[in-house]
Amino acid sequence: MFSRTEFDNVPAVDMHIHTVYSGHAAENMTLANIVKQAEQAGLKQIAVTEHVWNHQHLASLELLQEEFEKLEPSLKVYLGLEVDVDPRYSDGRLIEKIPPEFRPLIVSTHAYPDSSLMWYDDGQVSKRTKRRLLKKWFPWVTAAVKQERVDVLAHPGIMVSREGPEIRFEAEILDRFSDLFGVMREHRVAFELNEHVKRKLISSDQQDTYHNLPAVAAELGVKLSVGSDSHELMHVGKFDWISQIARRAGLKPKHFTVYNGPGLVKNPSC
Ligand SMILES: [Zn+2]
Ligand SMILES: [Zn+2]
Repeated sequence: MFSRTEFDNVPAVDMHIHTVYSGHAAENMTLANIVKQAEQAGLKQIAVTEHVWNHQHLASLELLQEEFEKLEPSLKVYLGLEVDVDPRYSDGRLIEKIPPEFRPLIVSTHAYPDSSLMWYDDGQVSKRTKRRLLKKWFPWVTAAVKQERVDVLAHPGIMVSREGPEIRFEAEILDRFSDLFGVMREHRVAFELNEHVKRKLISSDQQDTYHNLPAVAAELGVKLSVGSDSHELMHVGKFDWISQIARRAGLKPKHFTVYNGPGLVKNPSC
């Protein structure tokens, strides 16, 4: 299914890439440049998956689509989206607003539920508050992955990791994830191995134990999706950390999935 020479033990695809339209990616992250970079990196398929954090972002989708239509790539390119679960509501209403042709649809969380706290607001809230927010996180995300058209859960574990350095991905926390993974398997939502997570896991305890999450997911029949979460060209298709995690988790080619469904797609022009 994928080249194992250059990419070792993960598929030669990058299914999570941002563009200049996110407002926080490098200026040269145009769709044309991303495709060029992916071709040079030897990737077989990519997905451009811009953020939708709020209703305002929906307005820029037309621009993205216009640029997408002009592409003549030599690899398969999907135009998907990374949509946040709206922290103000638990019914996933932002996901419902996404035009159905944007696939794969990656669902992610960058804020804590029922709050305006973001994942990077460390040190500003007590551990007790974070524990309370963490408790809310599981039912909230479980509801989100049940939404129709959701293909992938982005970087599982990031919000949890921010609860405090004493968290290790083992014991009770794995039980809670197991329940979520059961729902993901039922709804065919993939677990994303995300290269960017290496910069977001803060403690060595978390770094040491993260591989337990994809290992348990795979064991429960959840497929793994691969993405760099690039905001800069040099990161497109770079999977050093993911590759290490996949090895430690004992993942095999059969555990991975590459989105192949309907959506805005450009097939290789030559
Ligand atoms: Zn971003
Ligand atoms: Zn992202």
